[in-house]
Amino acid sequence: MQNSKAEQCGFCPRNCRPEARGRCGETNSLRLAAATIHRGEEPPLSQQGGSGTIFVTGCNLGCTFCQNIQISRRGFGRAVDSEEFAGICLKLQEKGAQNLNIVTGSHMAPSIAAGLQRARDQGSSLPVFWNSSAYEKESIVESLSPVVTGYLPDLKTLDPDLADRFFHAPDYPAVAERAIRAMIADRNLHYQGDSLDSGVIIRHLVIPGFLDSTRKVLEWFAEYAQGKALVSVMMQYTPYGKGPERALNEKEYEQVLQWLDALGIDGFYQELVQDEEWLPDFGRTNPFSSELSVPVWHWTGGYEL
Ligand code: SF4
Repeated sequence: MQNSKAEQCGFCPRNCRPEARGRCGETNSLRLAAATIHRGEEPPLSQQGGSGTIFVTGCNLGCTFCQNIQISRRGFGRAVDSEEFAGICLKLQEKGAQNLNIVTGSHMAPSIAAGLQRARDQGSSLPVFWNSSAYEKESIVESLSPVVTGYLPDLKTLDPDLADRFFHAPDYPAVAERAIRAMIADRNLHYQGDSLDSGVIIRHLVIPGFLDSTRKVLEWFAEYAQGKALVSVMMQYTPYGKGPERALNEKEYEQVLQWLDALGIDGFYQELVQDEEWLPDFGRTNPFSSELSVPVWHWTGGYEL
């Protein structure tokens, strides 16, 4: 949230007038949950060394089936100033991260931009990717442009009814579409097979039982973003919270692959995930499995892991 408590915060599309905390669950202080070298991102992000993921506490969208609910809603995290944020970026670089990957920071973008600038001033030379739900104003994209090299926005749905049902944000489709167009306009795609130097990867999580929404997202991508951005289709939906109570089935999975083929979309897609092994636990100093990530900083003990 941009302003102090009890003031109107027009910083994200929620436009809250919070009495205490906004819909994002946060106040003015930037809080982080974890920083890890993550090997489970798309290949041109993870590359050989892994992506330097920094997980921000709070979220301004709040999907009902969120699998990071410990940090998006339950407040796991601790406050850091821009000096500490910069130190975390530099530590990720020292540990071999190929890039910095800022996860779900829309509600704290100015503080993060300041921290990224400070990191750069102190010698950080890694590419920076902004990893968000895309529920953000175009002005945020403009303000991030000087400090990021690319964007990893979700395009969760283009259906306002679905957005209302699962995110309580019927304006999500319109907001996200504008934000993603601004991101694509801001950064040309430089993709060399095994590394993404700049540009946009649009991510879409397939929601079981709502494949029509996926079809519309893929059609939108083919019409407006093909050749200018990459797409990444995620099949990892795991029943949680108040979303559909089953995982994707084989028939749905095959259908999505057929659409990708028919629309000529050349992007990334996951294998069908049938277990819950990958679900993170931000109460552990390594929230993911040791194959997937190497912890570098954690909200409970900093670099003491
Ligand atoms: S949800 Fe958005 S508008 Fe509301 S307090 Fe957080 S950043 Fe501000």
